[in-house]
Parts: sequence; C-alpha cells; structure tokens
Amino acid sequence: MDTRIYLPESRMPRQWYNALPDLPTPLAPPLNPETKEPLTPDMLSPIFPDALIAQEMSPERFIDIPEDILDIYRIWRPTPLVRARRLEKAIGTSCRIFYKDESRSPAGSHKPNTAVAQAWYNKAEGVKRLSTETGAGQWGTALSFACSMLGMECTVYMVKVSYEQKPYRGILIRTYGAEVFPSPSTRTNSGRVMLERDPDCKGSLGLAISEAVEDAVAHGDTKYALGSVLNHVLLHQTICGQEVKEQMAMAGATPDYLVGCVGGGSNFAGLILPFLPDKLDGANIKFIGAEPKACPSLTKGWFRYDYGDVSRLTPLLKMHTLGHSFMPAPIHAGGLRYHGSAPVLCNIVDAGLVEPRAYFQKECFDAAKFFLQTEGFLPAPETSHAIKAAIETAKEAPAGSNIVFLYSGHGLLDLASYDAYNKGQLVNYELPQETIDKALLECPDVS
Ligand SMILES: *Cc1c(COP(=O)(O)O)cnc(C)c1O
Repeated sequence: MDTRIYLPESRMPRQWYNALPDLPTPLAPPLNPETKEPLTPDMLSPIFPDALIAQEMSPERFIDIPEDILDIYRIWRPTPLVRARRLEKAIGTSCRIFYKDESRSPAGSHKPNTAVAQAWYNKAEGVKRLSTETGAGQWGTALSFACSMLGMECTVYMVKVSYEQKPYRGILIRTYGAEVFPSPSTRTNSGRVMLERDPDCKGSLGLAISEAVEDAVAHGDTKYALGSVLNHVLLHQTICGQEVKEQMAMAGATPDYLVGCVGGGSNFAGLILPFLPDKLDGANIKFIGAEPKACPSLTKGWFRYDYGDVSRLTPLLKMHTLGHSFMPAPIHAGGLRYHGSAPVLCNIVDAGLVEPRAYFQKECFDAAKFFLQTEGFLPAPETSHAIKAAIETAKEAPAGSNIVFLYSGHGLLDLASYDAYNKGQLVNYELPQETIDKALLECPDVS
C-alpha cells in the first residue's frame, strides 16, 4: 500500500453530498429570534445570496459543484490521504492510521473549501464585497484568498486580542488584498457602543459577528459569510469525505473509524457525512469527534435551541450548546472555542451515531509534538485534538482496524502557542457542569 494516496484530478468529486434528506430525524428548523417561528428564506436574504439560502434548506441529496469552483479547487485538490506509518510504528499499533491532509490549501486549512464556494455564489448574484469575522484568523485568511481568486473585495473583523497577539494572519489577509480591522472597531454601531463602554475592550467572536453582519446589512453591494456551523458550510466540506471514500477504495480498504476535531463542526462533518448512508445501512464504522474539555459542547452541552452569538442577533438554532453567554477559557485552539455546534452534526450526535470525546489542551499538544516528531509536520492546535483522539482510538481498537482522521490545518502560524507549550506555560481548563447549567438558564424558552 502506498504511503501517500493521490486521487487523480480527473476523479475529483463533481458534486457535494447533502445529508439533510438522510438524517435519522428531520432537522429542527432555525427559528426567528423574536417570534420563535421557523425562519423564512426572505429573512436571510439581506445577508446571504439566494443560492446559499437554497442550499441551506435543499432536499437534494447531491448538488453539482460549478465548473468555476472546481477550477479553483484544482489549485490544491484533491488533497492526499496519507498513511502515518511512522506514527503507527512509534505507538506500536497494528492498526493503520491515515490522515486526510487539508493543510495543503493556500490558507493552510480545510476552510477554503467553503470560502471559495460562498464567494463564487455571492459574485454570481452581483455581490461586490464580503464581510466576515475571524477569531484566530484562519477563516479570515480563507475568505480573503477566495475573494482574491474571484476579484471581490473582502472586509474582516478580527477579534482584537488575536489581532494584537497574532499579527501574521492579519498580514496574510492584507496581502491577499482584503481589509482587516480589530474588533471592536469604530466602523459599526455595535463596535462604537462597545468602545464607548470600554475603550480597552479586547473583543469576542460574538461581537465581531455583530460587526460583520451590521456591515453587510448596511451596504447593498455587501453580504456576510460564515465559516462553520451552517448546513451549506458542511455541504461544501463534504468534498473531503467523498475523496476519502475514493482514496480508501484505491488502497483496497474501508475505514473502521473516522476521527476529527470539532469546533463549529464543519471539518468533522465534511469527513463523516458522506459515510452516513453506509452507517445507516449497517456498515460497522465509528465516528469520533474530539473537542476541548474547556469548551465541551457535544460532551456536556444541552441539545436545545440557542442563539448563535452573544448579542442575540442570529436565528435560534437547535444544537448542543454551552449557552450563548459562554466565555471561553483562553485555550490555544481558537477555532474550537464556539459555544454551540452545527445543527446537522448535533442531530446525528443526538441520534447516538457519533462518539464525542473531550481532551485537555496539554495532552493534545503532547500528541501534536509526537506527530511532529514522527511524521514531521506541525499541526494546528485545533488539529491536535483529532490526533490525540486518533492515537487513543488506535490503542483501543481491534487489531488491524483502519483509522482515518482529518488533518484540518497546519500550525506554522500558531508558533506562539507551541512556544508557550515548550516553556511549560500551558494551563489545562475544564468547564464545570455548574457553569454550563447556569448559562443554560439564559437560553430562550422554546418548547
Ligand atoms: C476553524 C478550524 C477548525 C474548527 O472549525 P470546524 O468548523 O469545527 O471545522 C478546526 N481546525 C482548523 C485548522 C481550523 O482552522
């Protein structure tokens, strides 16, 4: 068996897989936060283009990928599936461990799979500029790359604490030709109100979302883009799992375990959803999602309706949530610090089809270092959770099992967190159940 399994470009998937018609129970609809009635498509049209709103609610099992999007995907896709032989040997397992390498995209993560698609559909409907928020900077990088490929403008509101601590992502975003502002900024009402109240405010993801949405609503030629959680984002990410299916077939094997890290849920869902019909048909395949103990939405959160942001501007989504007022501990996996998770993923977690696991950040960095010292590549702090879970799985799984994990991104722009790790400065955080139960009292009352 080859160590690196390359899918020929001619066999790159030409459709995304939409899991909505195959979910074990119908997806709970998003609700209007004021009336608590199901959201109608026209309520979303000030911020999203019609094509993406249609994908969000589509009953079609497969959706064609437009030729222009395939063209841009070809810059880095299909991505290799790699057999981690040196890692296998170092842990002494008889299991085969494979990783799907999404770090090879221009932005260094899986996020361009949806950024390119979202930018293209917006452009097709005459949108000139996209606004968005970014925490650690990976989504902002992905969207500015996509806008640069399509000749669109892009405005990124970056949480101020990250803007100041992680200047390299901002530099990359600007070099792609996008503008990036620390949030809170003076460009929006939400930002100005916050700055008046607290001139030293370091921002939060919820506030940056409010600023980006406000920018889109205020400008006719501008719309908003979100990098995870929504159905259409997960849809675009299914290209990963579909490629894995083909690549495992090329290797003459089938996966027994699919493993990924979970923030908003898009990379993990992109890996597992194409295998959902097989699992529902009785295939013996396990889905393992890894999250931080500091932000344990799937393992400790409640499955109920909640707001997507702190300011309660977004529709209500039924998801595993820690409460929208949740303030994450300062763990280094910035991309995994969201209080909720994708409703599609939560639906199948609730049906018992996924095994969620939670890990401390130090044990994840240990796993990342072990991977670096065996396989040679430096993973993103988010990805380290998937590596930890894959290694644990290899220790428990029956001999000879095939384990595939999604390598969601590289860590070359996250060196400051490795520096803290090397200096022994990392702290383990675990969110107490009392804090979660208390925050959930603030969830909207929807029966
Ligand atoms: C954003 C990000 C994540 C988490 O987002 P999901 O939507 O859960 O995939 C994980 N890994 C990397 C490298 C990221 O950039």
